[in-house]
Amino acid sequence: MKIIDTHYIDGRFIASHGTDEAPLFNPATEEQIGTVRLGDGEDVNRAVAAARRAFPDFSRTTPTERIAMLERLSASVSARGDALAEAMREEYGAPASFIDFAAHRAGSVFLDMAKTLADYPFRRTIGRAEVEMRPSGIAAAIMPWNSNAGFICAKIATAVAAGTTIVIKPSEMSAIQTQVLLGALHEAGLPDGVFNIVNGLGAVAGAALSAHRDIAKMSFTGSTATGRAILTAAAGTMKRVTLELGGKSPSIVLPDADLALVAPQLLMAGFANSGQACVAGTRILAPESRMAEVLDHLAAAVATVKAGDPRDRAVQIGPMVSARQWERVQSYIRLGQEEGATLLAGGEGRPEGVERGWFVRPTIFTGVRNDMRIAREEIFGPVLSVIAYRDEDHAVEIANDTDYGLQAYVFGADVERARTVANRIEAGRVVINGAPHEPLAPFGGFKQSGIGREFGVFGLEAFLEPRSVLL
Ligand code: NAD
Repeated sequence: MKIIDTHYIDGRFIASHGTDEAPLFNPATEEQIGTVRLGDGEDVNRAVAAARRAFPDFSRTTPTERIAMLERLSASVSARGDALAEAMREEYGAPASFIDFAAHRAGSVFLDMAKTLADYPFRRTIGRAEVEMRPSGIAAAIMPWNSNAGFICAKIATAVAAGTTIVIKPSEMSAIQTQVLLGALHEAGLPDGVFNIVNGLGAVAGAALSAHRDIAKMSFTGSTATGRAILTAAAGTMKRVTLELGGKSPSIVLPDADLALVAPQLLMAGFANSGQACVAGTRILAPESRMAEVLDHLAAAVATVKAGDPRDRAVQIGPMVSARQWERVQSYIRLGQEEGATLLAGGEGRPEGVERGWFVRPTIFTGVRNDMRIAREEIFGPVLSVIAYRDEDHAVEIANDTDYGLQAYVFGADVERARTVANRIEAGRVVINGAPHEPLAPFGGFKQSGIGREFGVFGLEAFLEPRSVLL
């Protein structure tokens, strides 16, 4: 049993003032593996006070000094990659493909930000004005459980690059991962108070941060419902707000697509991170004229997808993170059938031969209409909907007929045609034919997928404010 009873404040691990505890589980076995002490308003106040004390000196550091700090953070986190991967496997159950990407990325985001910082013009002249980009003030950040360590690193990297100090509330379900990461972050030897981490519940520690008068900037990654609560709380003190929220991303299969090639990619996009990914391509839009072929290819591809113990490297779908999340996914699988969709694969219950653990059967619904709830709501599990379209205009209309706009995927043999379709999609990012990740490109959503962008220069500027001096 791992007992986590400290927060990281002012460069030290200090005992929690809050006395409530939450259990931590291994979702593959349903066993309790630890407890985390939950911070209260006083813990948040202490962390904000430390960030406030550190701010004046830190905001005067030079980009060169901060690049050196980012390099130290990267080296330190990269050196703990194996321990971090193990914690993610144990506490979260993510499959190897996700862990390989996420554990590596946790260290590399610091270097990506260092690259952005090296070229960034903090001062420029506009007419008579000398314009300087200044840190917007003490920042706060709140993380989801599905990418806790990666976002802690990304948000610390951005704060350090901008020259601001930060208070972070990680996901209360990821405390073991946070603790492993903290060991590495501490070793990087940044000045006390530059980053502070308080474990706690959203409704307590998260809400206290969102409303705190000394916090100028809030960077949140999580669900759209929580994003709305944070935006409302932040309005009281006019915080600058970046919200990275949910999605219901379309995967458009164009009529000329090579289906043998594309079907496994559709599943990879849809089942990414066991379906617990904000960017998952959960609505597969396929041409009516080739629907039978598309379904044959999807059925063949899904039959090879292995769900089960995330320690098995052949496994593509691990458990859902919690009993609650398992129940939620089951309820959507029931709902899809009640709404009149047909199961092509999967269904309710655990995969065959699996007795325990919060495992879900990889599920594909066909005959889905875009007005069904399974096509409109974020399920956050390995449950995909196949929706027929008549022609390109119809495909684009369905793709954009959603409250979300985080990511979209287009698959087709003619790349120029795929690009034309991509240009018509209302989403922050459109991926053509499974193109690889671009870490410096802006990331974020249109519509209810969020406000603002992260990463690269757009992410840096979200932590800065221009000040003009007129001579
Ligand atoms: P969540 O919204 O339930 O929780 C996210 C965080 O917010 C947690 O740390 C939680 O404690 C905190 N929180 C909850 N209520 C709060 C409140 N009232 N005030 C302040 N903080 C509060 O989300 P989750 O279930 O942890 O994560 C899954 C969601 O995150 C999905 O919707 C997914 O799409 C989204 N997500 C988005 C991105 C992105 O970059 N767009 C990335 C990963 C996950």
